[in-house]
This record gives sequence, structure tokens and C-alpha cells, in this order.
Amino acid sequence: LWYVDTAENKTITANILISAWGGLNLPKLPNLASLETFKGVSFHSARWNHSFDLTDKTVAVVGTAASAVQFIPEVAKKVKQLFIFQRTPNWITNRDDGTYSAQMQWYFKKFPILMQLHRGLLYLRNDLINFSLFTTGSFIGKSLRKQLEKRIHQEIADSRVMDAVMPSYQPGCKRILINNDFYQTLNRKNVALITDKIDKITADSLVTEQGKDYKVDAMIYATGFNSLSYKKMDILGKNGDTLAGIWGNEPEAYLGISVPKFPNFFSLLGPNTGLGHSSVILMVECQVNYIIGCLNKMLRQDWKSLEVKEEAMRRYYQDLWKTMEKRVWTKENCMSWYQNQDGKVFALWPGNTIQYWWATRKPIFDDYIST
Ligand SMILES: Cc1cc2nc3c(=O)[nH]c(=O)nc-3n(C[C@H](O)[C@H](O)[C@H](O)COP(=O)(O)OP(=O)(O)OC[C@H]3O[C@@H](n4cnc5c(N)ncnc54)[C@H](O)[C@@H]3O)c2cc1C
Repeated sequence: LWYVDTAENKTITANILISAWGGLNLPKLPNLASLETFKGVSFHSARWNHSFDLTDKTVAVVGTAASAVQFIPEVAKKVKQLFIFQRTPNWITNRDDGTYSAQMQWYFKKFPILMQLHRGLLYLRNDLINFSLFTTGSFIGKSLRKQLEKRIHQEIADSRVMDAVMPSYQPGCKRILINNDFYQTLNRKNVALITDKIDKITADSLVTEQGKDYKVDAMIYATGFNSLSYKKMDILGKNGDTLAGIWGNEPEAYLGISVPKFPNFFSLLGPNTGLGHSSVILMVECQVNYIIGCLNKMLRQDWKSLEVKEEAMRRYYQDLWKTMEKRVWTKENCMSWYQNQDGKVFALWPGNTIQYWWATRKPIFDDYIST
């Protein structure tokens, strides 16, 4: 039995525990000791301060990745001056969201199979063609890089800014961003891109390591999320060890779902099941089907407990690392939140979603201890 203790001092008992705590919902702030010193308004982009009016203010945005490129173009239109602090540039591709003509919509309505076919082709384009850019030295990766470099040259006016936003790593190493108006925003007169490292925060400014002082009314942190969120929870396995203690900075789970010594515990979007090229909803659906398969078998066989074997987990990870080695994420000059501090990729599945569907289509009960 699992015992779940709540903050209200209640204990809930359950036969099965399924984690669905997500990978990206704990905001991460910049790692600066002087953060608290700031007396102006500051907030993380995932905790937007809607009561603060940005109009005509001088504002700093820290970070230039997925969240930042979405809100910066809107914020830039309102503020008097925007300072954007960039640590590492990201590759940015076009948002491919053109309109469907009235005629096309008519066809889709009349013949739903056409819409399903269209949807299927979009999915396959992601899973088969776009996925291949994660293979080191791939043709797709090289040609995409040329295309994205050209875009930077076309859309950015100042050559210094061009150089500053040009990544030095292969596309796909970090999450490729999808956006149509960030680069043009950098051409605005009220926007400045700063690549100097932030040294400290004062009561009313950000000071760079070069000693330059940027006075601001507000700071918006677009600095991402804490992807090791399991560390916040005490989940005790059958020997009394905690999941956070066993995993440390290297979380591992068989198919991202099952962990040895944690019987009747299943995970959604667990280690090595994130994606950089398609929707993770597909992965969650595979995991839910897999867990239902396990639960049905337990009910049918009247098993009280199901625990993955250590050797099955080792075998699984041996294969996983062989595939992972071929991916750009493991290469030098490629740092991302997909990795832990030692560079080990813990967040991503190294294959495409079809391969994950195949691996999870039905549980292999020989890999489990059932009682
Ligand atoms: C800016 C951003 C852009 C993204 N874009 C994409 C994208 O384009 N495609 C994609 O596939 N994915 C994207 N993601 C990833 C996104 O996290 C997932 O797609 C999706 O939200 C995962 O769903 P989930 O239900 O597993 O987790 P979440 O949506 O994170 O939900 C987890 C829930 O669990 C709750 N929770 C956590 N801990 C506890 C606890 N101890 N007790 C009770 N409740 C708890 C949380 O409050 C939250 O409600 C993006 C994420 C971010 C932050």
C-alpha cells in the first residue's frame, strides 16, 4: 500500500501511485545571491504580475529562450526601454501557422478523412523528418542551420546583434524555438540586447561583470524551470529509501515509467521521455495505455504488487545510451536543460514517438517481479 501524507496532516492510502507532477512547472530564478536586493517589481514569466502596468517603464528581461521570445515582442511595444539579457542564443524557426482557406475548410468538413490525412502527414513530418536533425552531422541539421543563419541575416539590421544571436552549436542541441517576431523586435530603438554576464543586482539596477549599470523599474525572469522537481517530494520505496535520494541528479526509470524498489509506482513523463520535436501528449498517452495494461493484468492475476527488475532496467538503459550517443544533445559544445550538471541527458527520449509507442505498446511482465 502507498500512504500519501498531505500538508493538512491527512493520510490517503492507495494500492497504486502514479506521478503526474510534470517536468516544467517550478519556476527557476537566476542564480544570483543579490536577487533579493532589488526594490522594483520583479517576477518570473510563469508567475506574471498582471497588476503591474509595464507602460512607459524601463524593464529588464533576463533570458531569451522559449518563454522570452513569445512575450518580448509584446512587452517591447509597451515599455519605454527594454534591456534583454542573453546568456546563450537559441536557434529560432518560423511559426508555421498559416490560415486554412475557406475551400480547404470545406473539403475537410465534407471529407474528414482528408483532414485526418493532413494531420497524419504533419505528425509524420515531425516524427520522421524533423526528428532526424537530432542525429549528429545529419543533412537535415546542416541545411536547417544554413536556413536559420540566413534568416538572422535577413531579419536583423545591426551586424553586432546578428553575431550576438547566432548560436555556435548545431540546431536541435537546445530546443529550437518557434517564433515570427522576436528578431524584428531586436531592431526596435527602445530595445537593447545585452550579452555581458550579470554580476549583481542592486536596489534599482542590474550590473554586468564589465561594470555597466542598467537602471530599471522592473525585471522579468524568463529563466526557465527546475526540471529536477522530484527533489521537492519525499517518495519512500519499499526499503525506506527516497526516490530523490536514489535518483540524485541522475533520474532513471524503465521506459520512464517504472523504478526498481518502488512497487506499484508508475510515472508519467518520467526520466528520458521528454521530446524536442513533437508533442509530449503522445508520450503521456503511451504511458497511460501502458499503465492501464499493467493494472488490468494485476486485477486479472490478483497480483498485489508489481515491481520492475533491476536487470531489466539496466538492459533498458544500455540500449537507451547506445541510441543517445548518436544524438547532438550528448556532444561537446551542446549544453541544455535536457542534461544534468555532468552533461548526462536525463530529460529526453532518444528515439521518435513511433519507437516509444512500439516500446510501450504492451508491458513485458518478465521484466517485473509480481506478487
Ligand atoms: C513555456 C513552455 C512551453 C512548452 N511547450 C511545449 C510544447 O510545445 N510541446 C510539448 O509537448 N510540451 C511543451 N511543454 C512541456 C509541458 O510541460 C508539457 O507539454 C505538459 O504541460 C506536461 O503535462 P503534465 O500534465 O505532465 O505536467 P504539467 O502540465 O506540468 O502538470 C503537472 C501538475 O502537477 C501539479 N503538481 C506538481 N507537484 C505536485 C504535488 N506535489 N502535489 C500535487 N500536485 C502537484 C502541478 O501543479 C501541475 O498542475 C512546454 C512547457 C513550458 C513551460
